[in-house]
Amino acid sequence: MTTEFRKVTVLGTGVLGSQIAFQTAFHGFDVTAYDIDDAALTAARQRLEGLATVYQQEVEGADADNTATTASGITLTDDLAAAAAEADLIIEAVPEVLAIKRDLYRKLGELAPERTVFATNSSTLLPSDLVDYTGRADRFLALHFANRVWKFNTAEVMGTTRTDPAVFGAVVDFAEAIGMVPIELHKEKAGYVLNSLLVPFLNSGIALAAGGYAEPAAVDETWRIATGSPMGPFQILDIVGLTTPYNILANADGEGKKLAAWLKDNYIDKGKLGVASGEGFYKYST
Ligand code: NAD
Repeated sequence: MTTEFRKVTVLGTGVLGSQIAFQTAFHGFDVTAYDIDDAALTAARQRLEGLATVYQQEVEGADADNTATTASGITLTDDLAAAAAEADLIIEAVPEVLAIKRDLYRKLGELAPERTVFATNSSTLLPSDLVDYTGRADRFLALHFANRVWKFNTAEVMGTTRTDPAVFGAVVDFAEAIGMVPIELHKEKAGYVLNSLLVPFLNSGIALAAGGYAEPAAVDETWRIATGSPMGPFQILDIVGLTTPYNILANADGEGKKLAAWLKDNYIDKGKLGVASGEGFYKYST
């Protein structure tokens, strides 16, 4: 797969940023990752080393050598100007806070070369919420990954009405070149394809259990047997972790708040946060 991008910069080295950086470097691109300070960069180095181990276990063709080279080959910096200076493509994965993202794009628009394409990995914001701060409406769009990018390898590509179709196409090609399956959206949609389906599905599962209609395990079993899907909503919730769905529901109106309260009383307040905490709707051995 050919792509016009060679030098890729990732902004934010948290959960998703570190994965995007690693996946991109693993596929042979020249990757720089930016975060705000030394502490964040130390955490980034640890995340990248952790990913090297995970790739060896879960990614075909990954071994101790090539994952170590991948991790050490990623340039880490807290200098935004240096991170932007030579980038062909900048993928932004900083916190899901509008003010932080706008402020960053405002600075980046001035620091990056005119030719540089910017892509946001935002899950809940639309690219139109940010485009006016980028200084390059034609070269800005969303490229949305799913957590555990090496395995759940969709990359949703979604522009604004002002995105140049050639830029859109180049980002689709890039996604393929790093081992993703690009999913093209023709127009902006909050939640893209995945969360437009998943969020109502998960909420319906929670409503069945919270309303006393059926146990979580029975809801999951129904879904698995009757549709042939490998996982029901509560198995998925355990993997996602209960905190994010809780926060979304707690900020919703009426019914959402009731579901949030049920999650809090029965699970979150008891430390049952999902797979990562060893227990959610199910128990996990560590
Ligand atoms: P995170 O909190 O794990 O990481 C955010 C990183 O950004 C941290 O390392 C933080 O130090 C850094 N940061 C903070 N302020 C910054 C700034 N001004 N400039 C640069 N870096 C800054 O967050 P995350 O879960 O990786 O989410 C990042 C983005 O990815 C969000 O937009 C989110 O919607 C999106 N996303 C997350 C997931 C997920 O499952 N976590 C999935 C898809 C998309």
